[in-house]
Amino acid sequence: MVQTPEAKTSAALASQRSPSPPQGPGELLEYERALAVRPVPAPPGTVHEDVLVPARGFLPARLLPAGDVMRIVDVEGQQVADLIFYDPANLKNLSSMTNTVLVNRTWRITTGHAFYAKLGQRMATIIEDTVGTNVVLGGFCNPDLNQLRYGITGTHSCRANLAASMTA
Ligand SMILES: [Zn+2]
Repeated sequence: MVQTPEAKTSAALASQRSPSPPQGPGELLEYERALAVRPVPAPPGTVHEDVLVPARGFLPARLLPAGDVMRIVDVEGQQVADLIFYDPANLKNLSSMTNTVLVNRTWRITTGHAFYAKLGQRMATIIEDTVGTNVVLGGFCNPDLNQLRYGITGTHSCRANLAASMTA
């Protein structure tokens, strides 16, 4: 297992949480706190890398060989993991949520469903889903959209994170 200096396990994070109740907007509700401190079972096989992505941060893009497994854990609760798959041989061929919904014949993407590329190739398959609700139609936020939706400019955005993940 490779850990960056700031990487911590979800168990270590859970032990650092305060038992105090939510104090205001953005704080976790009781049931969310219970979910957030739920122990995460160790994955089978060899862990090659265990990285904690800080809030509002991003994970630099990784090459995921066929057969390898990527697991995403929401360690703090109320987080969203924006995700794009790229064909390393053709970076213009990336995951398409439209194709993913069309091929799977549902927008309720979960265990057993796969993500499909713009050119149609299967890119990844979900082998376990403990979330149950994965929004694949919402796109990701960007400063222009945030201006329209919230009337504020210069926001941090998922688009910036996704772009940064390909340049880091
Ligand atoms: Zn966003």
